[in-house]
Amino acid sequence: MKSISEIRADFPILSRTIHKRPLIYFDNGATSQTPTQVVEAIVRYYTYQNANIHRGVHTLSQEATDAYEHARQKVQHHFNAQKSSEIIFTAGTTHGINLVANGYGTLMQTGDEVIISASEHHSNIVPWQLACQRSGATLKVIPMNEQGILDMEVYSNLLNKRTKVVCVQHVSNALGNIHPVKEIIDKAHAVGAVVLVDGAQAAPHLQPNVQALDVDFYAVSAHKMYGPTGVGALYGKEELLLQLPPYQGGGEMIKEVCFEQSTYADLPYKFEAGTPNICGGIAFAAALDYIHQLGMEAIAAYEHQLLEYAIAKLQGINGITLYGNPDLAQRTAVISFNLQGIHPYDVGVILDQMGIAVRTGHHCAQPIMDFYNIPGTVRISFAVYNTFEEIDVLIEGIKKAQAMLS
Ligand SMILES: *Cc1c(COP(=O)(O)O)cnc(C)c1O
Repeated sequence: MKSISEIRADFPILSRTIHKRPLIYFDNGATSQTPTQVVEAIVRYYTYQNANIHRGVHTLSQEATDAYEHARQKVQHHFNAQKSSEIIFTAGTTHGINLVANGYGTLMQTGDEVIISASEHHSNIVPWQLACQRSGATLKVIPMNEQGILDMEVYSNLLNKRTKVVCVQHVSNALGNIHPVKEIIDKAHAVGAVVLVDGAQAAPHLQPNVQALDVDFYAVSAHKMYGPTGVGALYGKEELLLQLPPYQGGGEMIKEVCFEQSTYADLPYKFEAGTPNICGGIAFAAALDYIHQLGMEAIAAYEHQLLEYAIAKLQGINGITLYGNPDLAQRTAVISFNLQGIHPYDVGVILDQMGIAVRTGHHCAQPIMDFYNIPGTVRISFAVYNTFEEIDVLIEGIKKAQAMLS
């Protein structure tokens, strides 16, 4: 891997100062920073390549089409999908989940069941509530324990012939726990259910292999893995995507349109109505190139060292409560905590004064906070450009916040 200072040089934003202190960016779980290589791909596209795709006979349009389809192949290879037509470009994880939930909302009927988990992000809860309301299906929830670990025995008991879809996150954005998705998938398949995995938080830290997982749908966002906002990918197994009704209608997603009826385009275009985020797709592929240049295993190993170092230091702080699985082998680089008697928001404000960006609140996972009966947590989440020294500064900052607020 490149040295950490070489990596940091790829992210000019990291040399900014905030409130006269060097920026320490620990909010990667919300969005990661974008390296120069990806920014350059965006600038290059709009400076020299911009054209609409799949439509023009002219050279520029063909070049843009080639670049976009090449980007799709990079996403395909990164996640090890069998075919590039199984990769749908989306606006992000939320869009990908809604696309699938909307389809099953049409295919399901009263008496069918959908299973989610107690640890889900709102974007993997609300679309399924809507799908259940529309179809008459029932929503069931896999409970979790104090450490945020899903109860697999209850899960097994929830599964039955009526289960149509199981929707779980691969990694919790609030706690960092890695869930046993392979086991969840295998058990669901045994009763004939399909599984959607929300990979938004896993894709930046693990390298999900959709064929090895045998997952049916897998949704990710580029902006959490060094790419731009507003673009992501949904993997779906070909036979399931063929059955799924289209999510939106418009140009590009049809073969023929008559007023009586239209026939839909082949995969993946059936799910890509209208002019897509062409530049976004190309920049997403540039972010994957960046990840491959560093090596996903090297990224994960380094982030794990940061995680272990930070947890050990945080454990030494009086009155701290750390959430999530204590077995760090089952975690990615996300840490949620609270300080006794102090609101997480106040900790966040004081850390910001010191140039440290953390997230505070419910992290779009309100049911988890309700479970712990807390208003939220302080969350720090690492990326490959973070350092041990930054963690030392954070620890001092937390102690200072504690002294000021208690
Ligand atoms: C961020 C996140 C989402 C939503 O991703 P968007 O990019 O906002 O669509 C969904 N699930 C998890 C676990 C996340 O971390």
